[in-house]
Amino acid sequence: MLIGGTLAFPALSQTTSPTPPSPAEFEACLSGLKAPARAAGVRDETFTRHTAGLQPDMTVIEKLNFQPEFRMAIWDYLSGLVDDERVAEGQAQMAKHREVLERVQQRYGVDPATVVAVWGVESNFGQTFGKYPLVQALGTLSCVGRRQAFFRGELYASLRILQAGHIAPERLVGSWAGAFGHTQFMPTTFERLAVDFDGDGRADLMDSTTDALASTANFLAKAGWQSGQPWGIEVALPAGFSVAGEGRRTKRPLSDWSARGVRAVDGSPLPAQGGPAGLLTLAGPLGPAFLVFRNFDAVYSYNAAESYGLAIAHLSDRLRGAGPFTTPWPTDDAGLSRAERRELQGLLILRSHDIGEVDGMLGERSRAAIRIEQSRLGHEASGRAGQKLLKALRGS
Ligand code: CA
Repeated sequence: MLIGGTLAFPALSQTTSPTPPSPAEFEACLSGLKAPARAAGVRDETFTRHTAGLQPDMTVIEKLNFQPEFRMAIWDYLSGLVDDERVAEGQAQMAKHREVLERVQQRYGVDPATVVAVWGVESNFGQTFGKYPLVQALGTLSCVGRRQAFFRGELYASLRILQAGHIAPERLVGSWAGAFGHTQFMPTTFERLAVDFDGDGRADLMDSTTDALASTANFLAKAGWQSGQPWGIEVALPAGFSVAGEGRRTKRPLSDWSARGVRAVDGSPLPAQGGPAGLLTLAGPLGPAFLVFRNFDAVYSYNAAESYGLAIAHLSDRLRGAGPFTTPWPTDDAGLSRAERRELQGLLILRSHDIGEVDGMLGERSRAAIRIEQSRLGHEASGRAGQKLLKALRGS
């Protein structure tokens, strides 16, 4: 879960060197938060215990100020999030947690594949939680940089979570912005929606998979998930169809879409009844097109990004056994899976580029090396890696 309603795609960073507050300034700011925290239900003893001696972590301010140099294409975004590895692992997790997922579905009405798809995208099935101690990150963001009022609310929530004993202080680590655990809930989201489903009295989204799966389903249920309904369907648009003015929010009955010539992507008619549905075309009218229902909006609300919603939705279909989208993305240089990104990194290392460890994440050092190889190969030195670069490096 990210803040602010936009996805900050991993991309090249711009150099930002925020000025750290002096120790005295930071301490004065924190002690000034004690009274409002008290008013927000944080006991003085709790506040002091968790903030005494706290040092600001300016790397979170660099993250806050980060401006992506370019937006990642939707096909690059999806090729890393929904790849064969994540499908295989998700199916294994569905089998492993089948009994819990069935109880979750009975209680919240959300099916196993959808719950596991959210889990897979949010934290890679509990393997990627973030490494920032939450109180330190939120304490810094409460006193430095923009959006301090927002982060103070999250700081107080994180302290209330500790005060209630849901999570041990040393276990409360997460993203730079304060999202944590299997579900990557922000602290206020945790307070609204985390549930104790294994019955030990604590909603523990760090160390209880059972609590985490139930909390994800609870989130979607509260966001309006309609049990037994699909998120959407891939469709084929008639030639020359104008997508102007259409979108997720512009919902029409399926009969309207049928009347305008829209068909299921295999050419069959749309269901006679159903909807309302909005038309989602994230890469324009020539790319994959989807009619999306109310359940897509529920997934969308998890992160307020349509590309994110489509990743979850598509992964859930793949977990149920469906294949990739029928319509290709409008590019002649498709994106790389994580396995292919790791292979690419290995090829860069073979060429003596210092890119750090092979992790499937194409960060700044990988992109710098990619630029050098692209120049050498006579490709555009974009820093973006697709199938063309991988094939060229395999053969050179
Ligand atoms: Ca529990």
